[in-house]
Amino acid sequence: MSLDYTSLLLAVGFSATCLSLTLFGMWLTARSEKFLLTWAISLLLVVGDIFAYDAYIDMPGRLLGIATLALLLLGFSAMLGAAYQFRTGASPVPRTVFGSIALAVALPPMALGYDGLGFMFENLFAALLLFATAFEYWKGRNEAPALTIGITALYSATATSFALCAMVLAWDGKLILGHAPSNWAEELSLIIVIASMTGIGALSLALNQGRLARHHRHNALTDPLTGLLNRRALFDMHGNAPVGAFTAVVVFDLDGFKAINDEFGHAAGDEVLRVFARELAGNLRPADVAARMGGEEFALVLKRTLPETVEATAEAIRAAFAACCIETETGPLTCTVSAGFAFGTKEGLSFDKVLSAADKALYAAKRGGRNRVTASAFRRAS
Ligand code: GH3
Ligand code: MG
Ligand code: MG
Repeated sequence: MSLDYTSLLLAVGFSATCLSLTLFGMWLTARSEKFLLTWAISLLLVVGDIFAYDAYIDMPGRLLGIATLALLLLGFSAMLGAAYQFRTGASPVPRTVFGSIALAVALPPMALGYDGLGFMFENLFAALLLFATAFEYWKGRNEAPALTIGITALYSATATSFALCAMVLAWDGKLILGHAPSNWAEELSLIIVIASMTGIGALSLALNQGRLARHHRHNALTDPLTGLLNRRALFDMHGNAPVGAFTAVVVFDLDGFKAINDEFGHAAGDEVLRVFARELAGNLRPADVAARMGGEEFALVLKRTLPETVEATAEAIRAAFAACCIETETGPLTCTVSAGFAFGTKEGLSFDKVLSAADKALYAAKRGGRNRVTASAFRRAS
């Protein structure tokens, strides 16, 4: 079967244009995802290269040769920048330096009329840039292994096809061609580009959607003021499982917090909440879970523990917080916290019941004079 190379080339150009417009549209609706814009620009540069190369096939000339070489290498270096930006969130600009180095080496031969050498360098650097892009996804494979490894494989396949084009040109050893390179590697490369571009587009969009979904879920489960889990997250994690005899729930409620807000202002109140959240998080074992239940109420779930340990943990948090001197705009302040805790039972108790037993203990602590930790009477009776 003989391939109509030009038609296939134009088909790649049109489908890359569509992908670029899709990415641009996605960026318009989610401006914080800047890599989408970098990626859209990189594809536009590649589209520019495709049309310049198509013209070069009909009219091989120095200017078109320079244009096609520059557009491809800039496009691929922007693509590398987009992959880096996606993985790290950092600026893609440093990665485009690789493209500039590639240009500095490949452009002079093309400009001096050594198109064979120019195309050999172009293919070689395109392969290196694509391998570097594949490596970026490989480095970020923990995020979504199946998708990122798929993208890595597709970029690597495309890179290999460009490397083959460079090798065939090097093997021929012609410094001057006078026309676009035409050999089996060029045809193979075009087929691989067609196949991988669709795959890379689909997998990358799925990767981004997955990241957005995780981001939204994280926001829905996190308290923005303190960074702790919120009430919903705590119930998602523990709400449905019976609470055993070695699991404790501790609830904390800041003392006289309304008066702090009234005297020092809401912003100072917020700072007090952040300070308490830090004390809470700082006194936990890795498996313990802390959450802000709402307002100035917090909860801890401690697993595989004993009453003495729970009491000691809550007491350490209470004492550390009471010792904090919190600087505010209207002067320093101190605050205290009361806590109550309760355990599950051997048969398993609902999370709601343990929480409400801990709440009762908390109110006993409040009635007892605040700034103290109280165990649930329910626990002692059982
Ligand atoms: P007690 O010692 O009995 O717990 O008294 P309290 O003043 O701490 O309790 P109360 O329930 O009367 O007041 C809680 C206050 O917490 C009222 C509310 O304005 C304030 N509050 C709730 N959420 C926030 C918040 O996110 N930031 C700030 N600054 N204040 C909050
Ligand atoms: Mg309260
Ligand atoms: Mg309170």
